[in-house]
Amino acid sequence: MRVAVVGAGIGGLVSAIQLAHAGHTVDVFEQGPRVGGKCNVSEFDGCSFETGPTLLTMPFVLDDVFRRVGRRREDYIKLHRVNPACQYRWSDGSRLDMPFELEDVISAIEGFAPGAGVNARAYLEHAREVYEMTKDVFIFSPFDGFMEFLKPRNLGMLPRLHRLRFASTLHRHNASYFTDKRLLQLFDRFATYNGSNPFKAPATLMVIPWVEIGFGAWYPEGGMYSIVRGLEKLAIECGVNISTECRVRSIEHAGKRATGILLDNDTRVACDHVVSNADVYVTQKHLLGLPVREPRDLSCSGVVIQASVDVQSFGLAHHNIFFADDYEREFRVLENGRHHDSKATMYVSRSCAADGSLAAEGRENWFILMNAPPNGVSAHLDGSAGSHWNGHDEHIVASAVQRLHDFGISPSIREYRIRTPDTMATQWSSFRGALYGASSNSPLSAFLRPRQKSLDLENLWYVGGSAHPGGGIPLVATSGMISADLIIESSSL
Ligand SMILES: Cc1cc2nc3c(=O)[nH]c(=O)nc-3n(C[C@H](O)[C@H](O)[C@H](O)COP(=O)(O)OP(=O)(O)OC[C@H]3O[C@@H](n4cnc5c(N)ncnc54)[C@H](O)[C@@H]3O)c2cc1C
Repeated sequence: MRVAVVGAGIGGLVSAIQLAHAGHTVDVFEQGPRVGGKCNVSEFDGCSFETGPTLLTMPFVLDDVFRRVGRRREDYIKLHRVNPACQYRWSDGSRLDMPFELEDVISAIEGFAPGAGVNARAYLEHAREVYEMTKDVFIFSPFDGFMEFLKPRNLGMLPRLHRLRFASTLHRHNASYFTDKRLLQLFDRFATYNGSNPFKAPATLMVIPWVEIGFGAWYPEGGMYSIVRGLEKLAIECGVNISTECRVRSIEHAGKRATGILLDNDTRVACDHVVSNADVYVTQKHLLGLPVREPRDLSCSGVVIQASVDVQSFGLAHHNIFFADDYEREFRVLENGRHHDSKATMYVSRSCAADGSLAAEGRENWFILMNAPPNGVSAHLDGSAGSHWNGHDEHIVASAVQRLHDFGISPSIREYRIRTPDTMATQWSSFRGALYGASSNSPLSAFLRPRQKSLDLENLWYVGGSAHPGGGIPLVATSGMISADLIIESSSL
């Protein structure tokens, strides 16, 4: 069989690896100059900067990608624990360094807010239970919607379904365990890992803090792009053909079957299956030309400032969060679609703290991230008229610097680059720059998320953050494995 993969993000690469290993001819077409999609790098002023992910959770998923094709992940990607996993700061001067190990986390929380350790343990135990109950339904298998609950293997879940707390929000659930406002905010923030709003998203998202705390926070030697380099090497070894700077203009189809793809250079490639790693809505609307409706509630986008900074001692960790004083307001501002909130929570990653080779002597490579509304415009798909973001760079940097000042931190910035929702919409063709397609703000989101098998064409498959099971490296890698299994299964029928 011949399979064409549109896009070389992590989901696309993982799908291609599994299919090529099974003996199929696999061609990957990536519009960008390098593979990796959102997990990428840029370099300036002697420093290497991440463009998207800065932290790996659930490392066993990557292990699985390699194991399934008879390799060992550690021969391609070396992972190290991040300890502390994250440093959290509040404007009242308080600070919590979250350790790597679960027991140390409980002790650190108890030391931070005496009496809270017991509840933190109970909360994480509840979250672990929900993760164990749901992982094979909502993450590691093809998803069949409500039908899942009627499958014999899942019937045992029914009496305990209330434990998922579908009807409560993450914030309300967290508030039932944490009275300390800072801890409540800390656990609420995990909703943003999949671009959601903790004041709306279902409490089931409690599994996110569990996977970070229970399975740990990890970082690869050489930076996050080492994950992509490892996958690219494996793909080539498995015989995948990868073409970069090769944009797919459309997926050609006749009746209910995809017949091939048409590249921007007018080349046609015939194939038996198409795997789209592009955003699902963008695939349907722009690559298939279908009259689909825009997704209404999108996951959030982000503004990233990559800055080379003179080395100064601020007592920061690798990963640092500076919390907004009013978290609920931050999400209201995001929903109102304003372009930038100068009082927002800010995340600063300094990967040079984990791997000194990522910044030149005397410098640090700061990656500053703030949530942003999904209002980007794509130069490819929309033209650049109507951008909310043009011309705001200096203001964004000035307000980020001011925000850090509020926490007593005054970095001396040497050079910077800014990435806005427009960059994300243009560079990765993510609709409106949303990081993960539709948000998970409703209890029905998991049920409505597009599945791997397209409903429009019988040999078109979706992988990546806007499809089941969702965004983040472990989940998109999982979508790659699920899609490959389904294609292999469908071709052996
Ligand atoms: C700022 C930010 C921070 C993040 N932090 C984390 C984190 O700490 N940990 C974590 O696990 N995850 C994080 N993520 C999420 C993670 O990066 C993504 O979920 C994951 O990398 C997306 O993989 P994907 O398979 O969906 O493909 P994508 O990365 O979306 O790649 C899709 C690829 O398809 C290509 N493409 C699209 N259309 C076409 C076309 N027509 N022709 C050819 N090519 C096309 C694009 O150029 C792109 O390369 C973060 C993301 C961002 C942006």
